[in-house]
Amino acid sequence: MSARIIDGEFVAEKIREPLIEEISMLRKKGIFPRVKAVQVGENAASHLYIQNQKKQCEAMGITYTVDELAADTGEDALVEHIKKLNNDPHVTGIILQIPMPDGLDVKKVLRVIAPHKDVEGVNPANIGELVYGNKKRIVPCTAMAAVELIKSIGVEIRGKEATIVGRSAMVGKPVSLLLLDLSATPTICHSGTKDLSVQTKKADILVAAVGKAELIKGDMIKPGAIVIDVGINHVKEFDVQGNSVMSKNDKPKMKITGDVEFKTAKEVASYITPVPGGVEPVTMVILLRNTVEASKMSVSY
Ligand code: NAP
Repeated sequence: MSARIIDGEFVAEKIREPLIEEISMLRKKGIFPRVKAVQVGENAASHLYIQNQKKQCEAMGITYTVDELAADTGEDALVEHIKKLNNDPHVTGIILQIPMPDGLDVKKVLRVIAPHKDVEGVNPANIGELVYGNKKRIVPCTAMAAVELIKSIGVEIRGKEATIVGRSAMVGKPVSLLLLDLSATPTICHSGTKDLSVQTKKADILVAAVGKAELIKGDMIKPGAIVIDVGINHVKEFDVQGNSVMSKNDKPKMKITGDVEFKTAKEVASYITPVPGGVEPVTMVILLRNTVEASKMSVSY
């Protein structure tokens, strides 16, 4: 069997299309989605991320601006800054760019973002709403993206065995809760799981969110399973002789790979997401959808 590839760009486009119309309707009603990104200090990866978010937001008619705070900004000053944005009626969504400089307590600061402006769904209040199955909540973007990719296939999720590898608060746990809400039977694996392949092999739906390149091999997958690979790992590229490929500046050439060994997994699975091009384009569009939802909520606050 060779799995069908779930095209993340295609799924993202299907979610994006109705948002364009919705944003235009909101603007007519005087509701303007406006995102404020907060970056503390310089960070090359965050810079790229911000550029991409800005481009994607502006293409949809969402205002996206950045507050660049000095690298030595203290935690109290950062908290005060976020509180000001919480109270600013011209800001409907807040994104705190991570990583932040050492010494700042990320979890503490994320708690300060007003839940109705928390477009990434990272405030514990929003994650907690998942436990209650509240449909009007803002959900962590990557977790929702994984579920949207599964839904895009059109198969019945109810009654399926789902194994989620990874139990982070932003990905593994919320994916499990979302699938539970859809009446799948989730099993969550982590570094303490005794025999990972016993758990992965029973899965009709397998979600890998580990951060370990190609940890899940084809022989760990149930034939016909749906495989969603959330992992983004930067690894060295090797040639056929097993030598590291060098780039022009004489540094090892890097590539992005997932948590699933695509080559072997696609021979066993029925559907699989590629890396790149699977989860991450959908994650971006869920951020846009959350931004639209947050701007609607701003009216009632
Ligand atoms: P994380 O916070 O580091 O969590 C990793 C999880 O994997 C932990 O729960 C850990 O278990 C578990 N784990 C580690 N080694 C394991 C093993 N050998 N067997 C079973 N479980 C193991 O990572 P994350 O933030 O959830 O991200 C996971 C991956 O998704 C990363 O590659 C990240 O880059 C990627 N990601 C992608 C997107 C996207 O848009 N595609 C967005 C966010 C993250 P313990 O809890 O026991 O330590």
